[in-house]
Amino acid sequence: MDYETVIGLEVHAQLLTNTKIFCSCSTEFGAPPNTHVCPVCLGMPGVLPVLNRKVVDYTILMALATNCTIAPESRFARKNYFYPDLPKGYQISQYELPIAEHGRLLIEVNNHKKRIGITRIHMEEDAGKLIHHPRRPVSMVDFNRTGVPLIEIVSEPDISTPEEAGAYLRQLRAILRYLEICDGNMEEGSFRCDANVSVRPAGTDTFGTRTELKNMNSFKHVENALSYEIHRQKELVEDGMQVVQETRLWDPEKGVTVSMRGKEEAHDYRYFPDPNLVPLVIDKEWVEEIRSGLPELPDARKARFIADYGLPSYDAEVLTDSRPLADYFEECVKHFPEPKTVSNWVMVSLLAVLKGENKTIEESPISSERLAELLRLIDSGLISGKIAKTVFEEMASTGKAPETIVREKGLIQITDTDAIADVVRQVLADHAKEVSDYKAGKTKLFGFFVGQVMKATGGKANPKMVNEILKGMLR
Ligand code: ADP
Ligand code: MG
Ligand code: ZN
Repeated sequence: MDYETVIGLEVHAQLLTNTKIFCSCSTEFGAPPNTHVCPVCLGMPGVLPVLNRKVVDYTILMALATNCTIAPESRFARKNYFYPDLPKGYQISQYELPIAEHGRLLIEVNNHKKRIGITRIHMEEDAGKLIHHPRRPVSMVDFNRTGVPLIEIVSEPDISTPEEAGAYLRQLRAILRYLEICDGNMEEGSFRCDANVSVRPAGTDTFGTRTELKNMNSFKHVENALSYEIHRQKELVEDGMQVVQETRLWDPEKGVTVSMRGKEEAHDYRYFPDPNLVPLVIDKEWVEEIRSGLPELPDARKARFIADYGLPSYDAEVLTDSRPLADYFEECVKHFPEPKTVSNWVMVSLLAVLKGENKTIEESPISSERLAELLRLIDSGLISGKIAKTVFEEMASTGKAPETIVREKGLIQITDTDAIADVVRQVLADHAKEVSDYKAGKTKLFGFFVGQVMKATGGKANPKMVNEILKGMLR
C-alpha cells in the first residue's frame, strides 16, 4: 500500500530584544548564572509583570511577514506545570486568543512551489536552564533565560516530506533574520523546532496518529529524524500494529528516535487567562506603523535577483539567504556590473573561504569592492582566470588589494605573442616523440602541450593565445 506523510511544525524563536518580556532584566547571552534576574522573573510573590512593547512590535512584524491576521485583542494565559527551571510554577504564554493567526508561507522544493499554512503565532516567556553536575548527583539552575521573549510559530499539517520541512524551516529562519528580530542560531537554541508527524494510506483524509519529535538542533537533524520516524511508523502500520501518540527524542548519534513520554504522562496545563495582565489591544495605527518598517523579504529579493540580474533561481536562492550576503552581492555588482560572474565568485570562492574560516559575510576578509577590483583585472586581461584564483586566495589570507598582489608576485598575464611562441617552440622541441604521435593522429595530446606551456609560464600565459599558437605550430 502507498502511504502519505503529514507533518506539522512548532517553532520557537527567541526575540532579539535588549530586555526580557515582563521585566527590565537584560537578555544578554553568556552572563554569569543568575546575574540577570529580578523578583519578577524569579517569580516572587506579589510582583506584577509589565509587557515589553518591543516584543509586540517584533511579533507584529513576523505576523505581517507571514501574512497572518493580527488580533485586535489577544490575551496572555498561564500554562501550569512544575519544573525546577520554572520558578513561578507556570509559564506566561498565549492560548485561546493568540496575537496572530491564519498566515502562510511559500516554500520551493525541486522547482515546485507550495503554500504552507501558519495556524498561529503567539508570544511567551522562556524558562530557565538546568545545568547538571558532570559527576555529583546535583543540578544547578540558571534563571538568566527566564523571561526571555519567545514567539511560537505553529504550522498547519500541510508539510508532506522531510525536504519540505527543511525548506519551511529555512524560509522561516530567513524571514526572522531579514526582519532582524531573531538570530536564528539553532545550536544555541534561539531557533528550536518540534516536529509532529503521522502517516496514513494515500488518498484518505483522516489523519493518522502522530508523534512529536524533539531534540533536533540543526536542519539536517530535523530532516533525518523525520525520515527515520516516517519509516518507523510505516513499518508499524504495515505489520498491523498501531502508532502510539507520544513525544520522542531524536538521538543524532544512533540516528533513531526514542520514546520520551507517552500520552498518559502528557501534561494537563490547566491554561487560564493571566489575571495580572490586561488584554493586549492592538489598533490599526500600530499595525500600520510596523508595516511601514517591513524590509524587502527573502522571496521578493530572490524574485528581483532573477528578474533584474538574470540570475538562475539557484544562485538567487543562495545569495538571498541572508540580508548581508545579498547586500554584498549587490554592492559588488555596482562596481562590476556582470551579475553572473560576481555570483560565481561569491558562491564558489568567497563562501568556501568564509566556511573554511567559520566567518560570516560581515567578517569577510575581502570586501565587495576588492572583489570587484579583482574581477576587473581578469576582465581587462591583466591576469588570467586561473591566476585570479591564486590572487583571490592571497587576498583572503592577507587582506591586500589585488593589484598589489599581482605586482608583488609578478603574476601579470603574458599576452606577448613572441614570448608565448618562444615557450611553445621550446615545449615542442622537448617533446619530439609526443609531437610525432600527435601528427600521426593522437590529437588528444593537444591538452598535454597546453599543460606544458602553462607549467613553463607558471600559469601566466594567456590560454587563448597559447591555443592559437600551438595549433599553428603543430599544423
Ligand atoms: P500540541 O499543542 O499538543 O502540540 P497542536 O494542536 O498545537 O498540539 O498541534 C501541534 C502541531 O501538530 C501543529 O503544527 C499541527 O499542524 C500538527 N499536527 C496536528 N495533528 C497532526 C497529525 N495527525 N499529523 C501530523 N501533524 C499534526
Ligand atoms: Mg506540541
Ligand atoms: Zn527580571
